[in-house]
Amino acid sequence: MYQVHIRTYGCQMNERDSDQVARLFAERGGYTMTADETQADVILINTCSVRDQAEQKALGKMGMMGRLRRQKPHVVYGFMGCMAQSRGAELLDTIPHLDLVAGTQKYHRVVDYVDTILKRRLERQMDDEKFSIVDVAEEEGSQNTIRDQEVDERQATAFVSIMQGCNMKCTFCIVPYTRGGERARPIAEIVDEVRRLVARGVKEVTLLGQIVNRYAIREFPSVDGKSPFVQLLEAVHGIDGLERIRFTSPHPIGYRDDLIDAFRYLPKLCSHIHLPLQSGSERILKAMHRPYSPERFLEICRRMREARPDLAITTDVIVGFPGETEADYQATREVVRQADFDNAFIFRYSKRRGTPAAGLPDELQLPERVKEERNQDLLALVNDLGMAKLRALVGRRVEVLCEGYSKTTTERLTGRTSQNKIVVFPGPHDRLKGELVDVEVTDTHVFTLYGEVAEAGVVGGAAAAIGTGA
Ligand code: SF4
Repeated sequence: MYQVHIRTYGCQMNERDSDQVARLFAERGGYTMTADETQADVILINTCSVRDQAEQKALGKMGMMGRLRRQKPHVVYGFMGCMAQSRGAELLDTIPHLDLVAGTQKYHRVVDYVDTILKRRLERQMDDEKFSIVDVAEEEGSQNTIRDQEVDERQATAFVSIMQGCNMKCTFCIVPYTRGGERARPIAEIVDEVRRLVARGVKEVTLLGQIVNRYAIREFPSVDGKSPFVQLLEAVHGIDGLERIRFTSPHPIGYRDDLIDAFRYLPKLCSHIHLPLQSGSERILKAMHRPYSPERFLEICRRMREARPDLAITTDVIVGFPGETEADYQATREVVRQADFDNAFIFRYSKRRGTPAAGLPDELQLPERVKEERNQDLLALVNDLGMAKLRALVGRRVEVLCEGYSKTTTERLTGRTSQNKIVVFPGPHDRLKGELVDVEVTDTHVFTLYGEVAEAGVVGGAAAAIGTGA
């Protein structure tokens, strides 16, 4: 048995893609997964290119892991995903021990490539030559290969990839160059995958795509004024036993009337949307090639909250985009305040090679100090907004989908509310994992809610379980 170690950087799409590769190794036979890189015969890093820091981390890690070859000369090293796609064969020069570079449309070929490299190496054909495989070509239908997945016993949640790529070309973003154009999986195949997950106990699915709410916009027709994405939501919603549906990552322009309405009549849609703002300045939005105004963005927030009054909204913001003035930043701050977000990911702009914004004149670039000041200022505002919302939940009962033990202790469980708030509470793991549980919120600390199980008959059981554990 060869041991395979996969390390993943970046977004949920990457996590899902790595899972798929792991599954394909298991199906092939002769391979087993290991979390311990020192034991591995195959080391793969699934890379992210969204920020330079993520690329440097992956390069640094791969560089360090090269030492394992001294003990095991046959070890196979590979990069997969976004950086593999954008840098291709040049990675072989940067990391001399690298054997494999597999782009974002090639996850399903990784096992074959590793097989080939291992075989050559074990047959000692490698002594006099450097043999490596680089495959970053486009491949028609590759979006249909991220499908079906292993789930653990009583696993509550799962990610389902519904599309790949993005056609938007926001000027700061490298994704269209690493993930290619938009390509959708057919609705029927996605529904089948979700049905199989639900049959194995999954209660919540997150539909994944780089621009998820524009799913299949060019490939499948609208029906009765409903976009392909809303048709997909309706179809998934109809699956018995599925309790919750989430989706990420959407674009504000995808929140049209049909999707806003869907939050009224599809109760399984969670009361949480991620709505990337990026900037609150009209001028900067234009420079970013984001086709909405701050007013339109706030109108979407208002209409979504009308459709779903308990809705939580989170966002992404970039501070320090080239040419961002203090007035532009203040406009962003004002939109963040008015939108009253539950949480936000705030990024300091960093140049991404090959993107249109990277070619803007140097004099438009902002000093790191200014970016950092804006980052910290906005973070403080977002934390205030988010903490106020969490504090308002203390003393109230929330429904939590229990995902298992909390990160820090096996004496407590964790899960999320429909609004995607993390809740930690005591309880019997065997009984509650994978179940929807009512929890009385008693406290909040650093974006986590703490509480007690409120469901009749369980509170005593929980106390007993904890008593035994102590
Ligand atoms: S919509 Fe999202 S993924 Fe597409 S280019 Fe813009 S930021 Fe990147």
